[in-house]
Amino acid sequence: MPLSKYKINLVILLFFITLCMAMLGLYCRTNAALSLFWPCNAMLLGLLVRFPQLSSALTFPAIYVGLVTADIAFGTHVAASMGMDAANLSFIVTGLGVLLTGSTTSRRLQALNRVFPASVVGAAVCAVIGSVASQHYFHDDLVQGWISWFCEQVSTSILLLPVMITLPRSDEINELLRECRQVSPLPLISLGVSIAAGISVGGGGSLIFPLPALMWCAVSYPLFITCLLTLITGITEIILVASNVLTIQGRDDFFLIDSLASARLGVAAMTVSPLIVALSATANKKLVARITRRADYDLLTGALTRSGLAARLDALMARRDHNFNGAAFVVDIDRFKNINDTFGHAAGDYVLAQTVERIRQTLQQTAIISRMGGEEFLILIEDISLPRAFLLANRLRQSIEQHTIILNDDDLSVTISIGISSLERVDAKTLDEAIKSADKQLYLAKSSGRNRVCPEVVL
Ligand code: GH3
Ligand code: MG
Ligand code: MG
Repeated sequence: MPLSKYKINLVILLFFITLCMAMLGLYCRTNAALSLFWPCNAMLLGLLVRFPQLSSALTFPAIYVGLVTADIAFGTHVAASMGMDAANLSFIVTGLGVLLTGSTTSRRLQALNRVFPASVVGAAVCAVIGSVASQHYFHDDLVQGWISWFCEQVSTSILLLPVMITLPRSDEINELLRECRQVSPLPLISLGVSIAAGISVGGGGSLIFPLPALMWCAVSYPLFITCLLTLITGITEIILVASNVLTIQGRDDFFLIDSLASARLGVAAMTVSPLIVALSATANKKLVARITRRADYDLLTGALTRSGLAARLDALMARRDHNFNGAAFVVDIDRFKNINDTFGHAAGDYVLAQTVERIRQTLQQTAIISRMGGEEFLILIEDISLPRAFLLANRLRQSIEQHTIILNDDDLSVTISIGISSLERVDAKTLDEAIKSADKQLYLAKSSGRNRVCPEVVL
């Protein structure tokens, strides 16, 4: 199938992104402190996960040509460039396979869960091709070549991939900013202090000093912020070790890899822990939100349950200074038992749901609708006088009466009776009193013939 113009534009975009990233990486290589990083592979892999629209039949050729072009522009021999960039590409292909194979519900969450294996497997494959190419073109030692390719790729990938995968979507940015404004700065401060403590104490263990603070960040901050802080901490530690500010070198130098490579692996291994904690904290938050939703909303009608009503009022009162000038309606469907008896319980359920939907449509969005039980509802309306509440309740009553509910074979309409009381302040006691008073009026409405509204009489 030919590629659409949109897809071709994306392929060209991917080529230029690759070119820019690779040139940035090559430019950094000329700087001693930054020569430790080749972020291009992990960033491209993360982009392909984060932006699925970038994937097409020409994804990998576009990346490969971009990588080779950057190398040639920096003066590398064409054949050597092709060999080394085959290694870079193999990291992206392998990593993508591990991250996304057997896709479950959420692509991003699955990929985050697999950052560690994807980085290790991708780096191992990349190191095989890279070390063979380095030996062939630059006569480097094969084993040492494999080790240095592997350490570089695995550590950069574990640090960078989570940030790329969790890059917020445009519709998530406002929520992220809102969350950031609410969090405490203490975990962040403790992170800075623990890095400083690591520098002053030194030794191998000092690399792990930021771990508790990162864990604290993981349970306190949004996922993306935790990933970003982990990346910054990891890169800072690696640069500090490379520039001998953080000294971890032991006296005996008989290790398989040098202390810097060891530090990079250690930092990468350490940063997996906050990622796992952040993931589980995020999953927990989602679960709590789901359970709260179930507890706070009546499944049949979508109206608030009693606990949902209490939570809503608490939130409302926390925002205002305890004033709620308004009215409470106690609404009861007339002769509802007859509907159940005539059309069956399922039809009764449907009528209940339809009636609440009609109430919602008739009232303003700010009206708080809660199911008290059975076919009885409490509605709280803010900023309304008793006479206006009476008019509104009558409008609601007429609206329900005029609405036809279509059942399988029958059309029917229901009527409601409403008792009203005024409400000046909301707390558990005043609300109870208001409900009692509105209930009395409801009783009057029922006993005087139903399908009517009775307001509280204020003397
Ligand atoms: P009134 O006009 O005096 O309010 O009469 P009514 O028949 O509406 O009131 P009554 O209290 O006698 O009956 C209420 C009925 O509502 C009894 C109960 O079976 C039914 N009911 C309560 N909850 C549900 C529900 O969730 N679904 C269905 N289908 N029926 C329910
Ligand atoms: Mg009833
Ligand atoms: Mg009732």
